[in-house]
Amino acid sequence: MRSAERVAPPDLEARRIEVRGVVQGVGFRPFAWRLAERLGVAGRVRNASGVVEIHVEGSPEALEAFAAALTGEAPTLARVEAVSWTPAAVEGLGGFAVDASVDGAGDRLVSADAATCAACLAELFDPGDRRFRYPFINCTDCGPRFTIIEALPYDRERTSMRAFPMCAECRREYEDPGDRRFHAEPVACPVCGPRVSLLAAPEADDPLEIVAALIRAGAIVAVKGLGGFHLACDATDEGAVARLRNRKRRPEKPFAVMVPDVAAARRWFAPTPPELDALSSWQAPIVLMTGARALAPSVAPGFARHGVMLPATPLHHLLLRAVDRPLVMTSGNASEEPICVTNEDAAERLTPIADAVLVHDRDVVARYDDSVVRVRTGDVAPSVLRRARSSAPSPIDLAIDAAPTLGTGSLLHGAFCLANGGKAFLSQHVGDLDTEESMAAYREALDRFRGVFRIEPEIVAHDRHPDFMTTRFAASLGVPTVAVQHHHAHVAATMAEHGLGGEVLGLAFDGLGLGDDGTVWGGELLVCSSSGYRRVGRLRQVVQPGGDAATRDPVRMALAHARDAGVLAAAIDRLGASSALVDVVERQIETGLASPRTSSAGRLFDAVAAIAGVCRSASFEGQPAMLLEEAVREPTTSALAPVVSRLPDGLLELDTRPLIVDAFESGDVAARFHAGFAALIAEAAIASAADAGLDRVVLGGGVFQNDRLTTELGARLTTAGLRVFLPRQVPIGDGGIALGQVLVANATKERS
Ligand SMILES: [Zn+2]
Ligand SMILES: [Zn+2]
Repeated sequence: MRSAERVAPPDLEARRIEVRGVVQGVGFRPFAWRLAERLGVAGRVRNASGVVEIHVEGSPEALEAFAAALTGEAPTLARVEAVSWTPAAVEGLGGFAVDASVDGAGDRLVSADAATCAACLAELFDPGDRRFRYPFINCTDCGPRFTIIEALPYDRERTSMRAFPMCAECRREYEDPGDRRFHAEPVACPVCGPRVSLLAAPEADDPLEIVAALIRAGAIVAVKGLGGFHLACDATDEGAVARLRNRKRRPEKPFAVMVPDVAAARRWFAPTPPELDALSSWQAPIVLMTGARALAPSVAPGFARHGVMLPATPLHHLLLRAVDRPLVMTSGNASEEPICVTNEDAAERLTPIADAVLVHDRDVVARYDDSVVRVRTGDVAPSVLRRARSSAPSPIDLAIDAAPTLGTGSLLHGAFCLANGGKAFLSQHVGDLDTEESMAAYREALDRFRGVFRIEPEIVAHDRHPDFMTTRFAASLGVPTVAVQHHHAHVAATMAEHGLGGEVLGLAFDGLGLGDDGTVWGGELLVCSSSGYRRVGRLRQVVQPGGDAATRDPVRMALAHARDAGVLAAAIDRLGASSALVDVVERQIETGLASPRTSSAGRLFDAVAAIAGVCRSASFEGQPAMLLEEAVREPTTSALAPVVSRLPDGLLELDTRPLIVDAFESGDVAARFHAGFAALIAEAAIASAADAGLDRVVLGGGVFQNDRLTTELGARLTTAGLRVFLPRQVPIGDGGIALGQVLVANATKERS
């Protein structure tokens, strides 16, 4: 007997699927192909307009499983934001095809660079592999991305890999959907790909071995990496590290250290589990951690905390294995200059610093430093302190629909932000923007972002300070500009990351920003929305004697605060200040000549660091505050009774005088100051939040990089029933300010 059911056609359906997010350059198409093979569905996939388009046909169950796996099993580097589908006509396809890219408008998201994956690492050290010890091994899960991309869509011909035609073997892998290098755009091998060489001896055999031997013997070597050059030396060799400091003209600012692998990180430091997770993530950032053993003292003078990273490229893996000890790995530049990226530039600028220069013949398209992250006390995931390689240009989702906007950022820790629609692209850290060279690097990075993301700003937001180079640059663009107050922008940056609307209480504590009243602000309580703010409190103002001179000389701030607190005589004695300096400072305070009044929390830290004796001369921005945090051995919660008073104009004043007096009278200055200062801020914040009827407190400003202060403050605010917001993807210091400017400019535009 024949039944009609037995010969019924298979129950086929088709769907057209769109996948949004960071889905290009991350191995998404081969992933879809493998998924289709596994589930026995037919169709095709292609990159288009910043999305991945898939046509797929099969049984309803298989299609359902396929759609679910697109999100659930997406490749490491992908960030799937949305999978949408519509029914489509069944075409009766016989297999699953991977089509070429088509370009158009739409979201243009691209992966950041990714550290060498485990599979590539295994091949790198496998003597039987054809890429054994090949310094440019990569696959769809790892390797360079944004640092080699010239334009989108992401295909080899629009990267600096264009100069290296694939050999037959690489071509076969690249074209085989079943291969883990299928459409890995930077695919290369010793036959066809980039090569390393020594700048001074281009024909030398095994330049890596030569360089490793030099480092072991105490030399300083420049190494071309993903986003530019590093300077490397043996981190256990005090002579080598001291020489590097001397030649780089960087006397004290800590150097980062690279170790070969996680086991070495455990051997040389004492990382916590979340710090290890951050260290070995695909971003491979510099992670701050304690417990260093047997490193040269000059690596991070005065610091218990070190910046540690693992190799992010095969070249660095090879170098670290060959040297087999921790290496200082610092940006390839003299202090204050942009990082070197071209071989010619390195020959000119790094030859005076390095004993040898290891180069390769692939161009660095984008200049990138290493990212720096820190895991805060009680947190499980890291917070970005410096956003660079592998964190920029990952997009930040906005809760608003932004016009095409540029935020030009601040003066220190320069970074810009380009936004459009619901996405903001905060640039990599470019460095302090106080020289023509650094502004040139900034403009170069901006031009690239504009090109790749195709955002032509219609609004340009900048800091209110008229003398910042980023302010003058904003004015030069011929586009409507919006001036954004510095501390408002700090709070807005954190609001933007968390998608907060409405009013919040903002705590903006940093070194300096120009206030509305012409004084220098830096310890501010602001009732903020994205469109405006009202200053409701501030630190007690003191004179900053000699202006900028005081930032290099914390003793001046200590004298100013001591005089304000009525303990000048004790201060002169304790600080060993010369009578000449005391006279100068007193005159500056009395006349106000070149000596602004300031409510800066950064300058308060300077004063206390000088009183505590941990830093009496600063060679880099933030040094006194960092050293004061480091000096806290046993945290204390026994704080002074905070003194907050209301000024005639209604502002709350946070009185710093009891903290200063206590610093002279008590031992354990660092711990007592952190506890007392946190209590003072908390007292004023709780009162201000109650006054304004707010329960959300948003923190911004470089002072909150200080984990001791932020942990104690956060605990007090939380106990009082307030919700505390800190940024995670965006630097809390000036490196994040451009994002806040973008948010404010858009809100201001809507209001006007
Ligand atoms: Zn790989
Ligand atoms: Zn090849």
